[in-house]
Amino acid sequence: MTTPHPSVAALAAEWPPIPESRRLFCNRTLNLRSIKAIGYDMDYTLVHYNVVKWEGRAYAHLRQRLLSQGWPVQDLAFEPDRVMRGLVIDKQLGNLLKVNRFGYIKSSMHGTHPLAMEDQRKLYGRMLVDLSDARYVFLNTLFEISEGCMYAQLVDLLDRRELPDVLGYDALYRKVRHTLDRAHVEGELKAEILARPDLYVELDPEMPLALLDQRESGKKLLLITNSEWAYTQPMMSYAFDRYLPAGTSWRDLFALIVVSARKPGFFSTTPMMFEVIEEATGLLRPVEGPLREGAVYFGGTADRVERALGLDGDQILYVGDHMFGDVRQSKKMVQWRTAMILRELEEELAAIADWRPSQHRVDALMNEKERLEFAFSQLRVARMRKRAGYGAPIEGHDSELAEKLNVLRERLVALDNTIAPLAAAAGHLHNRLWGLMMRAGNDKSLLARQIEQHADIYTSRVSNFLHETPYSFLRSLRGSLPHDMGAAGNGHEMPDTGSGDSA
Ligand code: IMP
Ligand code: MG
Repeated sequence: MTTPHPSVAALAAEWPPIPESRRLFCNRTLNLRSIKAIGYDMDYTLVHYNVVKWEGRAYAHLRQRLLSQGWPVQDLAFEPDRVMRGLVIDKQLGNLLKVNRFGYIKSSMHGTHPLAMEDQRKLYGRMLVDLSDARYVFLNTLFEISEGCMYAQLVDLLDRRELPDVLGYDALYRKVRHTLDRAHVEGELKAEILARPDLYVELDPEMPLALLDQRESGKKLLLITNSEWAYTQPMMSYAFDRYLPAGTSWRDLFALIVVSARKPGFFSTTPMMFEVIEEATGLLRPVEGPLREGAVYFGGTADRVERALGLDGDQILYVGDHMFGDVRQSKKMVQWRTAMILRELEEELAAIADWRPSQHRVDALMNEKERLEFAFSQLRVARMRKRAGYGAPIEGHDSELAEKLNVLRERLVALDNTIAPLAAAAGHLHNRLWGLMMRAGNDKSLLARQIEQHADIYTSRVSNFLHETPYSFLRSLRGSLPHDMGAAGNGHEMPDTGSGDSA
C-alpha cells in the first residue's frame, strides 16, 4: 500500500503562524536566498543585555566619575524610562524631543520637565529637526539610555545653578558624552560585565540555532563589532558556546571576525587593518595580502571584507542595533542590505495589542466626529449664503439652521470630551513619558522614518530569523497612500457606528 500524498493545505498548515512580536518586518523586498553573507554586530544584536542592569551600571560609573570631580550628583538615580531610543537631544536648549517623520516636534521636555505646547511652539515655531545639524543628537541605540537620562537630570541642576564649571547646555552635553565615553573605554565597566555576565546578558537559546541554519544553508557569517577582542571573545563564548554542538564553539560559526571595527568609519573610511595573531594577548600585526577565513581582524573596512568574500554589496546583509553606525551607514556608504534589531519592539507590539479595543473605539468616535464636522460645515455655509442672499435658495428659517448647528455642536463637544482622555492615554503607551517608539501622535516617528529609509527589514531579535529560515522571500507590503482607502477613507460615507450614546 502506498502512503497517500499529503494535501497541500495540510502541509502549509503544519507550521503555526509566527507570533506578531517575533516577525521580521519588511520595508524593501529581500530574498534571503540571494544573500551570500550575513554580517552581525555583537552588542545588543548577537548579545542582548538587560538594559536596566547594563545601562544602570553605565549610569553608576558616569555618576561616580562626575561625583569625583565635585559635581553634586549623589542623589541622582537612574530612570530607565526617562528616555528611549529615537528621541532627539537639543544640545542648544537642554531639551529632549519626540519628533515625527517630517521633523516636526510632537512633544518635548526641558531637562526632566515636560514643555507645555505653547512653550514648545514659542521655542521652535514651525522649525524642523534636521539630524545633520550638530545641534541635535539622535538616540541611536540602547547604549545611549544612560546618557540621555543623565543629561536630562543635569539640565535641571544646571538650571538651579548647582553645577560648578559648566557654561551651558551644549558644554554640559559634551561633558556627559565624554565622561560616558571614558567609562566605556577605560575598562572598569566592562570588567564588571565580564565578571558576572549572568547578571547582564539575556541569553537566547534559539539564536545559535538560527545562525547554524544560516551557515549550513551556505551563507558566510561575519562578526563585525566595535567591541575589542578581550571583551568580544568571552561575551560570545558565554552567549553561544553552551547551545552549540559538543566540541564546537562560537568561532566555528563565523568565516570572518572583525573586532574594534570603528563603525561607522568601517563603512566609509580606509583605516589600517590588523590581524589578531595572539588571541590570549590580543597581539596585532598589519594585514598584508588577502584576508584569511577563520582569522580575527582588528579594524579595517567594509570594502576589504567585500573583496575578501568576492561579493557585491547587495549580496551581504548586515544586522545591527545602531540606527546610524550599523544600519544607515552600511546602507548609504556600501549599499549592503540591512536589518535593524530593536528589542523594544516586543514590548511596543504588546502595548499596541492591549490597546487595540480602545483604538477601535477611538477610530469609531473619530469617524463620527468627521461626519458631524462635515455636516456642521455644510450648515454653516448654508446659513452664510442665506444671510448674504446668494446661491440656491435654502429652506427653513434662520432659527432652524441655528438649532441644527446647536445639536451638532453639542454632540461634537461630547465627542471631544470622550476622545481626549483616550488620545492622552494612547500617548503614554509603551513609555509612560514618551509613548510609542515608532509613532509620534498619529504619524510615524522620526525613528520609524529612519528605519523605513535605511533598514530593509527590522525585527526584535536575531533569533526571529529562525522562524523565517535562510530560504525566506521577504516581501514588502504594497505601500499605502492616503487615496488607497477609496470611499471607505471618506468618513462622511461611513455607516452609523452606533457610538451616538457613547459620550
Ligand atoms: P557593537 O554594538 O558590537 O558594535 O559594539 C558596541 C561597543 O561600543 C561596545 O563595546 C560598547 O561598550 C561600545 N560603546 C558604546 N558606547 C560607547 C561610547 O560612548 N564610547 C566608547 N564605546 C562605546
Ligand atoms: Mg551593537
